[in-house]
Amino acid sequence: MSDKLATILQAARNHAEQVILPNVDAWNAAKKWPRQASDKAGAAGLTGLYAPEEFGGQGLPLSEGIQVYEQLGLGDGAYAFALSMHNICTFAGCGYGTDAFKEKWARDLTSGRKLANFALTEPQSGSDPMNMYSRATINGDGTWSIRGAKAWVSLATEADIYFTVVKTSDAPGHNDMAMIAIPADAPGLSFGPLYDTPSYNFLPLAEMYMDEVVVDEANIILPIGRGLQGSLMAIDIARVSIASGCCGLMQAALDTALSYSKNRKMFGGKNLDLDGIQWMLGEVATDLEASKLLYQKAAESLGTPEGPLMAAHAKRFVPDAAVKAANTCTQVLGGMGLLQPYGLDRLSRLAQMLRIVDGTTEISRVVIGRALQQRSSTLPNLSVPKGYGETW
Ligand SMILES: Cc1cc2nc3c(=O)[nH]c(=O)nc-3n(C[C@H](O)[C@H](O)[C@H](O)COP(=O)(O)OP(=O)(O)OC[C@H]3O[C@@H](n4cnc5c(N)ncnc54)[C@H](O)[C@@H]3O)c2cc1C
Repeated sequence: MSDKLATILQAARNHAEQVILPNVDAWNAAKKWPRQASDKAGAAGLTGLYAPEEFGGQGLPLSEGIQVYEQLGLGDGAYAFALSMHNICTFAGCGYGTDAFKEKWARDLTSGRKLANFALTEPQSGSDPMNMYSRATINGDGTWSIRGAKAWVSLATEADIYFTVVKTSDAPGHNDMAMIAIPADAPGLSFGPLYDTPSYNFLPLAEMYMDEVVVDEANIILPIGRGLQGSLMAIDIARVSIASGCCGLMQAALDTALSYSKNRKMFGGKNLDLDGIQWMLGEVATDLEASKLLYQKAAESLGTPEGPLMAAHAKRFVPDAAVKAANTCTQVLGGMGLLQPYGLDRLSRLAQMLRIVDGTTEISRVVIGRALQQRSSTLPNLSVPKGYGETW
């Protein structure tokens, strides 16, 4: 591991231990994004992970930067998720944005002074982004006008810019999709009421409405025809980032269970002396090790032809393992596991949320299923041996 990566991972761990964990319950009670905390994340170098150093970023490869979320996930999975989306948008803006966009936004984004998020989902289309209604049209002067509605926009009302995927015609398919960065103060941009999500209420989520929003062509991040492919690449990075964050969540659940169990007296010994408890926690430990290997392999494959499939494997397996881990660890504490100070109920709800966001477990299965069909086409046909039944 390079010195640079070790320093960033330590900074992320310190951020989880010193900034997130002591405050996350208060953030949830206040129902407000902790801007001072994300400012500190910026100062610690956690908001420009993949952006080039010339723009103030860390210049880490995806395979390394993604490990940051494992550390942040020790604190809170929703916070880790929001920073991962900011980092992906910053990566896109610094990599694919116009020179004018980079000049105006790059350093503010990499420093975390300004926050970004990604808006793809719409009220009628989550898993099926082709069913998108948001439309952008190019005006005579080169500006673009955008109308439509997005749903489940994270950092809604808090981000300074929204990387928004739109269609540019009524033609079916994705060939006309583009990604446009809409500044929060663009006239015509507004938000619905914040969703009520008790276990991560500090993360503002809402619908986003675009009523003839006009943006400069300098804000086109991915031009017509590259919007969906670029979004899918962003989502693959997000899927692996979520798997990384889930590993932190699993470690946090396991450590809580161990700290309690080694101290809880029963049957003349300690809870952790019981074989049954060791087996339960042993399964969590194995799932955690497998999850780490899987997300790291998926992170290394991003940008290669295997990237989408490996991201699907990681997103299918790891959040499920995290749900099981959080529930198992709750069970190990008995009734105490349900009480607020231990945080296990919050971890269970977060793990379930991470099964849904950025492509559900079922959508990952669809991606894996298609890859299996492709592989099957390269294999010989296996038919029933003579005398064992009808033809297939
Ligand atoms: C906390 C949170 C934050 C989010 N932040 C953002 C954000 O910042 N930006 C953004 O654009 N989006 C965001 N999302 C949206 C998220 O990506 C979608 O919720 C997700 O893609 C699923 O879409 P949906 O909720 O519309 O479910 P639907 O697409 O309506 O799916 C409903 C159910 O059908 C299942 N299903 C769908 N297709 C199939 C299939 N082919 N086979 C079997 N089952 C299927 C799904 O798995 C699911 O169980 C966020 C979501 C959450 C929960």
